Amino acid sequence: MSTTATDNVDPAELAKFNALASRWWDPEGEFGALHEINPLRLDWIREHVKLAGSKALDIGCGGGILAESMSACKATVTGIDMAEAPLAVARLHQHESGVDVDYRRSTAESLAAKEPAQYDVVTCLEMLEHVPDPSQVIRSCAELVKPGGHVFFSTINRNPKAFLFAIVGGEYILNLLPKGTHEYDKFIRPSELEQWAREAGLEFQTSIGMHYNPLTKAYSLGSNLDVNYLMHYQRSTGE
Ligand code: SAH
Repeated sequence: MSTTATDNVDPAELAKFNALASRWWDPEGEFGALHEINPLRLDWIREHVKLAGSKALDIGCGGGILAESMSACKATVTGIDMAEAPLAVARLHQHESGVDVDYRRSTAESLAAKEPAQYDVVTCLEMLEHVPDPSQVIRSCAELVKPGGHVFFSTINRNPKAFLFAIVGGEYILNLLPKGTHEYDKFIRPSELEQWAREAGLEFQTSIGMHYNPLTKAYSLGSNLDVNYLMHYQRSTGE
């Protein structure tokens, strides 16, 4: 079932992120996991695209952890989100960091209607599992990126292991994430993401898993996509 550009937003999800926004840049706070994983995901993105000089769009940017880091790599970055409070935090924080990101309150769908095929790189990380219709966000990413341009997604797989690690372990045992951050039913299997992306005209390039080791308290990238994973696509050139 397809939804319209205005209603692919879950107000309860935005409320969660609005409520915690002031804590966004505390590395020890509720978003600490995003701070920990950011160097890993940024490096992985940079293995596949040259950010310097590129026009990049970060969808569901929140307080701007990834957006700022791409800007620091000399990309021209636009960050969009539908939650006001994280955007306000992001707009203030960039002055502290000395980067320049254009933060806007927008859905991917409405920006795609205004700025189709404008971006070299589109990132949509840890966001798809918070929207009612992720396939529509993926379609919008495909519209926003230039032909031949790059799209990166990350989300959480849906299987018993992911339930155990991401929700029971992550939220209730290890307190890596606030309780209630994720809903199991909204997790996305790589095969589902792959089908939606293919239908949107995106060509699969590569994928990688993101793992947490509770003993060393460290994250790492590896081939196993069972829980957290990232995917890299390129928009077909239409040739
Ligand atoms: N991508 C960032 C933040 C992830 S948290 C990172 O990985 O560091 C998920 C973000 O998605 C929140 O900031 C939330 O407000 C945003 N979000 C949820 N639904 C959205 C929607 N429909 N459109 C845009 N942003 C949305």
